[in-house]
Amino acid sequence: MLSEDELGDRISTRVINEYSKLKPICRPVTRPTGVKEWTVLAGIVAINRKNDTNNIDVLSMATGVKAMPDSELRRSGGKILHDCHAEILALRGLNTVLLNHIKEYNPANGSDFIQSNDETPPRFKLKDNWELALYISKLPCGDASIDFLNDNCKNDHDFPKIEDDDEFQYVNSSVKTILRGNLNFNRKNVVRTKPGRYDSNITLSKSCSDKLLMKRLSSILNALNYELFVQPVFLKYVVIPGLENEVKHVLKQSFHDRLPNANHETIFMSCNTSFYDDKAGEEDVPSLMCSIKLFMNDHTNEEAILNGVKNGFYTKSSKPLRKHCQSLVSRFAQWELFKQIRPEYEGMSYLQFKSSQKRRTRLIIAIKDILSPDGWIPTKIDDVQ
Ligand SMILES: [Zn+2]
Repeated sequence: MLSEDELGDRISTRVINEYSKLKPICRPVTRPTGVKEWTVLAGIVAINRKNDTNNIDVLSMATGVKAMPDSELRRSGGKILHDCHAEILALRGLNTVLLNHIKEYNPANGSDFIQSNDETPPRFKLKDNWELALYISKLPCGDASIDFLNDNCKNDHDFPKIEDDDEFQYVNSSVKTILRGNLNFNRKNVVRTKPGRYDSNITLSKSCSDKLLMKRLSSILNALNYELFVQPVFLKYVVIPGLENEVKHVLKQSFHDRLPNANHETIFMSCNTSFYDDKAGEEDVPSLMCSIKLFMNDHTNEEAILNGVKNGFYTKSSKPLRKHCQSLVSRFAQWELFKQIRPEYEGMSYLQFKSSQKRRTRLIIAIKDILSPDGWIPTKIDDVQ
């Protein structure tokens, strides 16, 4: 049996090893001016516990630190990725990989990874020997990492000092349980939007801490896979480099105390290997480029993503989107894949389908009520036929 530390190291080594093989366009660069770019890396792996083999398969990986301003989403039609933080892209990637496994599933041959039941049409489950882990090269943004913001970040330039009664910290002053980015960083246990400069166009995507926390109860399956799976699928481990006990304690508080107990716990594991394209110096800048790599049954797909669409496809926000600009992990692409698996949903829109999923919808509303009792502030409606 591997110790937790050994497992954490093996997982991070596998993900970083795959990262090294990405096309150069998918990775940060040193700009002609000599300024170095950095990014965050995340990956979802499956650990095979059969006979204690502990083989690790990478299923999806992603890099990125960007989120789209809400105003950009008007023309999306499911094609623009709202949130390109690495861990969120990796989770979207996993959902595309699962949809692909189901689409390719052949009952005669079965699959190493999933098994079907005898319903018509069949639904699926992850085989019992697999456990899933998320690797992230740094703490998720938002509540779980707010105590560890570098003191250099706590300056007036990035985060002006906010008094508790200052309305400036809110996206909407009638919702005092959702804060804008890292503003008023002394407050804990609140939902936060994705951090960004307070004078930039606002993104209403929620922080990675909040999103990961919600998935601890609602599972990592999106609405489409939730329909196709017999039971939800949860992350067993989250691996982050250099987690000391104090940090683990704060993570546990943020991930386990903000919501009622689920019957499964997420275990936080440390690893020794640091990620070589993380921010190294104060002058380094975040890379604008994001990327995904998906590990399907018999092939991989790799995409560089800029401004929420495939690199090279972005048009100014006053213009319509270009054909085929959407990423494989976009709502548009996932909905297409789902309708190939379940053609009976042809003619329904993605959001109509989603609202028909009563159980999942109820669960998510209940989670949002607990996390933000004053109400929820959604991102712009983004539907696709
Ligand atoms: Zn984040």
